Amino acid sequence: MGIFTPTAIKPLALDITPAFLRQMGVKALLLDVDNTIAAYTSHQPLPGAVEWARSLEEAGFRVLIVSNNYKKRVGPFAARFGLSYISFAMKPLPFGYLRGARKLGLRCRDCAIIGDQIFTDVVGANLCGMRSVLLTPLEPEEGLSFRVRRFFERGLREKFAEKDL
Ligand SMILES: [Mg+2]
Repeated sequence: MGIFTPTAIKPLALDITPAFLRQMGVKALLLDVDNTIAAYTSHQPLPGAVEWARSLEEAGFRVLIVSNNYKKRVGPFAARFGLSYISFAMKPLPFGYLRGARKLGLRCRDCAIIGDQIFTDVVGANLCGMRSVLLTPLEPEEGLSFRVRRFFERGLREKFAEKDL
């Protein structure tokens, strides 16, 4: 179970406040893109997301985008947010997380990743000692591999809800 367990659960990225990050003891936030700061099928950020990321930076947190999606999709989002990014991160493999932490000049344990998937975002964080905040996906994805992952995720999310994580 440990490898699948996020540090915290929030409905939306925008629910994450500077106070919450301070309480978690991190200095930086790695942001997933799809279903985290933008709906899976949308080319627009979630309303208020750009301002939210900026407010975290203004509060002294470092913010970086780390996505498994291609540069073609991630680059324009990073530009909209004015943030550096790592695309094709191959989460849950730890390389993207390590590169992200290094880019920020921080250790993994000083960073938290924010994402909507247990089997990529959360597992990768646990593999490299990073904190993680699991979100509710913004919209369901198409395709068999997503449906299978979401099926197994559902059981885990129910267990986390029981434990009041
Ligand atoms: Mg995602």
